[in-house]
Amino acid sequence: MTTIQQPPNFMELVARQKIGDKASAWEIFKWERIGDGNDFLISLGETRTKTSGVNKGQITWRGLDGRMLPNGKAVVTEAETQSAEAQHESETGNCSVCGNTGQSFASWSVAEGTKYRTCRRCNGTGKAPSGSTEAKA
Ligand SMILES: [Zn+2]
Repeated sequence: MTTIQQPPNFMELVARQKIGDKASAWEIFKWERIGDGNDFLISLGETRTKTSGVNKGQITWRGLDGRMLPNGKAVVTEAETQSAEAQHESETGNCSVCGNTGQSFASWSVAEGTKYRTCRRCNGTGKAPSGSTEAKA
């Protein structure tokens, strides 16, 4: 399977920070909407790369014995995700949605592959929208 999903990076970032240093390289394997639907319960854990079988090269959250590798959960609110995005934009000057590419994921199909569209947040400039970095010109 092709990797088509744009992961919620900032949600993952916040979740890792909440769990601590041990989670710095952990990956999300599940996220659930909780509360009013804007907050998430994020499950993430240590991964390894499969070295044999039909899924060779893919990552898994299970050890060779089939048990889950070290993992944990964290609640990440919408406000915390937005705050992490804002911090990223002020530190890098890049758009937090498209990461300076100006393009965001639109759709994927077997026939047409991945399609992108102009990023709505930055209007395709790839730069953080005004107000975050260029306010004090
Ligand atoms: Zn953008």
